[in-house]
Amino acid sequence: MLSSFFYLIFGIIVIGVIITLLSAWAVKLSNPYRFPYFRYSFDVSGKRNVDLINLIDTFLLDERNRSLLDDYARQLDTWEKQTKAEIESIHFKWLRQKRREQYESILDEDHAYTFSTCRNRTRYNQANYIRTPYTVTFVDQQIQVSLEWLLDRCCQLEKTNFEATLKDWNCKQQRRLMTPKLRKKIAERDNYTCQNCGKYMPDGVGLHIDHIIPVIKGDKTVESNLQVLCSKCNGRKGGR
Ligand SMILES: [Zn+2]
Repeated sequence: MLSSFFYLIFGIIVIGVIITLLSAWAVKLSNPYRFPYFRYSFDVSGKRNVDLINLIDTFLLDERNRSLLDDYARQLDTWEKQTKAEIESIHFKWLRQKRREQYESILDEDHAYTFSTCRNRTRYNQANYIRTPYTVTFVDQQIQVSLEWLLDRCCQLEKTNFEATLKDWNCKQQRRLMTPKLRKKIAERDNYTCQNCGKYMPDGVGLHIDHIIPVIKGDKTVESNLQVLCSKCNGRKGGR
């Protein structure tokens, strides 16, 4: 009678020890830290040919958004300090060491700023012959950049006095290079003839100087990228 009581107590103690060890092991293994990424999403529903970098420029042009980035940088700094202090205050040496490693492993400052584009799509539920629309949002494109990258971008935008995105600014600069002298040179080179349909325009009426690859796609106002087109062919090209 006494021995079975003894075995019962012994069994309970063994099970208790095993549960304690298992939970300690689980606490040690699971990483309690999450890096607080900066997230910003642009709604591009219904838009085509979305340029995410250009959207980030647009974001940076607004002073309020730039102060959002400053706020986040401060928050991140506070988070880092607090977490480090928390770790150093852990009593058990083995756990402190483990937590340090876990904390180091999630740090990701080079990708701290996450920008994405999202689209809304309408989907339908059909039940008992009634169609109910509902909206689904999904991420279209995503890019992760560092604070250095954003600051560099801001420096470049400062050149435009925060008035235009770098893409628009470059387009403007390239269009400005199209001087009357250059127009005349290209017209003479192409013999006042449309390079698409062969129409001859010696008086220059309806003669267009066309960027073969448009400046909006990043190409330049240089002779090799220019050609003569008639107004009809140029209009058709613009429509595409
Ligand atoms: Zn033509």
